[in-house]
Amino acid sequence: MAKIIINKANFFHNLNQIVLKTGSKEKVAIVLKDNAYGHGLTQMAKLASEFGIMQAVVRNQTEADAIRSYFSDILVLGADGIVDSHCIYAINSLDAIAKAQPSARVELKVDTGMHRNGIGMDELLLALDQIKKRGLHLVGVMTHFRSADEMGSALFWQQKAFEKVKRMVKEAGFSDVRFHSRNSAATLRMGEFDEDLARIGIAAYGYNELPVPFDRVALKPVMKLMASRVATRRLKKGMRVGYGGDFIVSESMVVSTYDVGYGDGWCRGDSANPYMTPEGLPILGRVSMDLISLASEADEVCIFDDAQTAARQLGTISYEVTTALSPSIPRIIVEV
Ligand SMILES: *Cc1c(COP(=O)(O)O)cnc(C)c1O
Repeated sequence: MAKIIINKANFFHNLNQIVLKTGSKEKVAIVLKDNAYGHGLTQMAKLASEFGIMQAVVRNQTEADAIRSYFSDILVLGADGIVDSHCIYAINSLDAIAKAQPSARVELKVDTGMHRNGIGMDELLLALDQIKKRGLHLVGVMTHFRSADEMGSALFWQQKAFEKVKRMVKEAGFSDVRFHSRNSAATLRMGEFDEDLARIGIAAYGYNELPVPFDRVALKPVMKLMASRVATRRLKKGMRVGYGGDFIVSESMVVSTYDVGYGDGWCRGDSANPYMTPEGLPILGRVSMDLISLASEADEVCIFDDAQTAARQLGTISYEVTTALSPSIPRIIVEV
């Protein structure tokens, strides 16, 4: 059976590195959206809570409900605001203010330059006014950076814009509001932490996607994907393996199938440029829905132990490799 091994010591190591940046555990919100980037929602919620994290960020109400016992506050990014003692709802548009239940706790997302969602700077005063009129409880104001993990000036002018947002919110009479803007890359990259919260996703799972010139905080991958052997056969020169027969045996060899495929969220890739496992085993021929073939007889093989390295081979980023993994693969927590 394929399985995902979650290394608790590595997760705690990463959280400790982040706390060194934010100054305290109270200022870290663990981002658990999309099944905790594929790591397992409830498993990671439980571990984060055991570490001492009290805030979480999720995508929808279903995710929030699954982890409500572990956190004091859960920020829900993509749901209409309702009255809920644990949840705070991101407001992305004027429309969302109109839809939220009176006295729902909300956080206003302001678009400072990413132009994905959030209230425009020119709508900010109107939005604050409508929040008051509708009787919503404004807990926080946030923004999201479009280029925290890239060189260039965008991060800095967005930061400046957010400073202006903070002044405008305070001038509008909201004194007890928290402000936050930083994701993993911004938290790792920027010096002095002077905000109320950091929203940490990928760094907690062990990946630093900053380009090389930045000071690199050493993080440790939390997840490892293992597959189990299904069948083994000896093949002769000239025989072909898998759909389309893309792999041609050049000399007699032992080939086994292992129980991971694109049905599990593993990338189908390009059989002409095969993925190589950490042990140096290339995937032979095409990836099937539930199976791959490798030149091995081992009962278990590691498919990847570092999603960033795997992602480079597959032409994507660590986020996509881990998040795509099917929730039905068992997640097994190990202490070290
Ligand atoms: C996903 C997300 C984050 C986390 O980003 P990372 O790069 O994984 O740290 C933070 N804030 C918002 C609004 C997000 O959607």
